[in-house]
Amino acid sequence: MKKVILITGASSGMGKETAKTLIQQGHIVYTVARRIEQMQDLKTLGGHPIQMDVTKERDIDNVVNTIISEHGKIDVLWNNAGFGLYGSVEDIPLDEARKQMEVNVFGMAAMTQKVVPYMRKANAGTIINTSSMGGKMYFPMGAWYHASKHAVEGLSDCLRLELKPFNIKVVVLEPGFIATEFGAVLLDNFSKIPKESAYKNMMDKIAKGTADAAKGNGSSKPSVISDAIVKIVNSHNPKTRYKVGKFSVLMPWMRIYLGDKLFDKIVMSQM
Ligand code: NDP
Repeated sequence: MKKVILITGASSGMGKETAKTLIQQGHIVYTVARRIEQMQDLKTLGGHPIQMDVTKERDIDNVVNTIISEHGKIDVLWNNAGFGLYGSVEDIPLDEARKQMEVNVFGMAAMTQKVVPYMRKANAGTIINTSSMGGKMYFPMGAWYHASKHAVEGLSDCLRLELKPFNIKVVVLEPGFIATEFGAVLLDNFSKIPKESAYKNMMDKIAKGTADAAKGNGSSKPSVISDAIVKIVNSHNPKTRYKVGKFSVLMPWMRIYLGDKLFDKIVMSQM
């Protein structure tokens, strides 16, 4: 069945790849991100790109009002926009940390607040929230990113229960390493950290690990994510969580079953 789908963070990476697939399958796909020029290819394919920053309420209102006036409903909201801020808790300026939470957590909440009233009225809908394997485990230097994704996990669990009486499904996507612009954006953010940082060695290791993950077999193709999203979009009864891509199952499993101290030891042996 043809669905009206709204995807945030579709100017690159897994959002863009999935938008292409869903458009080709005949769905009505609205894609949003700040870099509208990066979504022209989606327009050519038959998608509906709109410029939007998830931290700007006026932008969100514009997008939701446009879709409702054109189609009267939103069947699927995929809250996917996000980025990774890495650096020690001591070094990261709190304003940068707030921006991380604004995009990864409050942006998702703001989108949800604007879309849910229409889904409730329709007594139907699916909300997919992109968390991460990093919402279940952690690396040093990733405090704010991991805090944001742990928050997405908790927020989504509560939301799932709140929306159950209205027949709205809430699904958490937990990607592992996926080859997207994520690594480049994360490395870009290293410039926000003081050059004389006491954590320089660890940061260098993280930078190398991030660059290595982007190479060869270090990460999965974004198509593994689009396969999962297609499954969720077409399911009457989706699972509550989808772990997809390299290390998405192994890492959280290690964290739970090995316990914190052994997991810490394994992670720190790589630093
Ligand atoms: P990309 O960097 O390729 O894509 C991120 C998308 O988010 C872009 O389209 C970007 O668009 C958008 N975005 C960022 N900030 C904003 C904002 N303020 N308003 C609107 N859109 C925004 O990375 P991925 O595709 O990998 O990331 C998608 C999601 O997956 C993120 O939530 C990320 O945390 C998560 N994830 C990624 C993993 C990976 O290994 N790649 C692993 C686990 C989770 P623009 O800059 O044009 O606004």
